[in-house]
Amino acid sequence: MFAKPFATVLLSVACLPVYAQCEATVEANDAMQFNVKEITVDKTCKEFTVTLKHVGKLPKTAMGHNWILTTEADFQPTATAGMAAGAANDYMQPNDARIIAHTKMLGGGESDTVTVDVSKLAAGQNYTFFCSFPGHWAIMKGTLKVSS
Ligand code: ZN
Repeated sequence: MFAKPFATVLLSVACLPVYAQCEATVEANDAMQFNVKEITVDKTCKEFTVTLKHVGKLPKTAMGHNWILTTEADFQPTATAGMAAGAANDYMQPNDARIIAHTKMLGGGESDTVTVDVSKLAAGQNYTFFCSFPGHWAIMKGTLKVSS
């Protein structure tokens, strides 16, 4: 019953002009890795949505992953403050103004989505995304930029 309308929707989507991709999916695994090292945000996007998927099996107490966005300069002090804030705060200092956007801390099989207000990002500035779980942020990090 639904086959025909569904096909029509697919066809009309395919015929639309190409718009900027205003979203990204990042996977994190039990080997303490993100599958994405660099994200470029098109400046025409008003909002940019990031979905973090923990594709591993380990619980968040052993292999928790989150996705936090700061400027490149704020990355290390924010990560250090997060470690001090501890597990009860998902390894994020509460109300940390340096955090531009973040997902919650995830365990295996979970996912979370966060929306970044692109007007708060500057072209030419490098941003760093990372996981704040202790010991992870040295490896689990990448760069986010706005296209110019
Ligand atoms: Zn992690």
